[in-house]
Amino acid sequence: GTNTAVSGLESTFADELGALTVPWQGAPAPDPKLLVLNEQLAAALRLDVQALRSEDGVGVLSGSTAPTGAKPVAMAYAGHQFGGYVPLLGDGRALLLGELTSSDGQRVDLHLKGSGRTPFSRGGDGFAVVGPMLREYLVSEAMYALGIPTTRALSVVATGGHVHRDGTEPGAVLARVAASHLRVGTFEYAARQGGLLQPLADYAIARHYPELTDLPTTGAGNRYLRFFESAVEAQASLVARWMLTGFVHGVMNTDNTTISGETIDYGPCAFLDAFDPAAVFSSIDHGGRYAFGNQPAVLKWNLARFAETLLTLIDSTPDDAITAASAALDTFDERYDGHYAAGMAAKLGLAGAPLDRTLIDDLLALMKDHGVDWTSGFRALADELRGNSTPLDALAPREHTGPWLQRWRGALTTHGREAAETADAMDRVNPIYIPRNHQLDAALRAATDSDLAPFEKLLEVVTHPFDRRDEWSDYTTPAPQSFSRTFQTFCG
Ligand code: AMP
Ligand code: MG
Ligand code: MG
Repeated sequence: GTNTAVSGLESTFADELGALTVPWQGAPAPDPKLLVLNEQLAAALRLDVQALRSEDGVGVLSGSTAPTGAKPVAMAYAGHQFGGYVPLLGDGRALLLGELTSSDGQRVDLHLKGSGRTPFSRGGDGFAVVGPMLREYLVSEAMYALGIPTTRALSVVATGGHVHRDGTEPGAVLARVAASHLRVGTFEYAARQGGLLQPLADYAIARHYPELTDLPTTGAGNRYLRFFESAVEAQASLVARWMLTGFVHGVMNTDNTTISGETIDYGPCAFLDAFDPAAVFSSIDHGGRYAFGNQPAVLKWNLARFAETLLTLIDSTPDDAITAASAALDTFDERYDGHYAAGMAAKLGLAGAPLDRTLIDDLLALMKDHGVDWTSGFRALADELRGNSTPLDALAPREHTGPWLQRWRGALTTHGREAAETADAMDRVNPIYIPRNHQLDAALRAATDSDLAPFEKLLEVVTHPFDRRDEWSDYTTPAPQSFSRTFQTFCG
């Protein structure tokens, strides 16, 4: 029969870059049940919510049936994983269903994760389980609500299958939406095949940096150096947003670094409680390569791997290509610092003002010394401006915060910032509700045991990150120390 639950899917990637794809189908789902559907996102994609909830819709969202006319594919890519090159990774448990055009005119990928084995599965089973897929759903939607570029989550379906992990877990499929699934790893793969690199680069430019399509494809002033610079800017801006929000991605391999500048692949990610640049949550990150404070440096390293793939396009003379690409890569630090300083100024009520870097550095040192909760700390500063010192005093002793507070208030005065207005402006950029590790953990455990209520509640809270509500006071508390000392995230 025909399945029209999702209509309008296109397949420009598979059509134009077939050599980077393998046509594939999802595994059958024994007893699929829709756990969560993002109705707002569905509407923005001009999808019919009723149809998505129907048997046909759940069939599509579980990967077991393809919409009529769709051409699902598994995508090939390579990647540096923890610094070591793997020449072929690819969608080992995922499928690109196709592309949709959202109501704002943007082309986006509709992609399934956990939909069964593919030719890229290597030793893996091709499956995903309920906890980690709901984790990606919730964290990506929280990031979206925080205004951070990210893939989004459309649905999670429990397949009714049993998946072997650390014991048996209920299987699940996440449907996610992304500006695209082009990664640094896609370029690493294409650059080592004949004839694929330039078509891939042109496709990526047309899709993500269309303003560059007027530039020539060869010779001086060609589009490819500018393309690289655009990706450097997008990623410098993105990682600055992570650092301002206390987000730890956890597995920043080059196959998890997008060309679009969106956050992708929420595996062992977490938000900071106590500020600590060395914070690592992932159970597999033994060396701390992807520690909170290393994220900008690792991102730059990933961009260097990206630059290497583009050298032959940037300049036909290898030395000139390297010189040009290195200079472009070196703009990363300045771009990152600019975004970070501007963001910090806003967090401190000094948006648009030239900020004394020592004010930031000394605040970070204070927060580190006292293990101040990253999220609560900035809200406490706004409360301080409102004349309420209690929240800040609960985080660090006044004899230590006092001198810094005086300098900060001096800066506010210098820049003519009035206290009440400034406090409100700070609360509009400093979230009060983030996915707290202990609460997310508890919600995912309950969901795995079929109780979705805590997940739904937490989702509602973290998708309204800035507006304090009295009835949500439980969601502002950092994890108890006994939890934080042992908390680890897993890849799922
Ligand atoms: P990730 O760590 O999720 O970014 O995945 C890294 C690579 O491992 C990708 O090629 C995935 O498709 C693959 N992979 C992860 N989990 C599985 C699994 N359960 N079965 C098959 N492939 C997997
Ligand atoms: Mg990945
Ligand atoms: Mg993955």
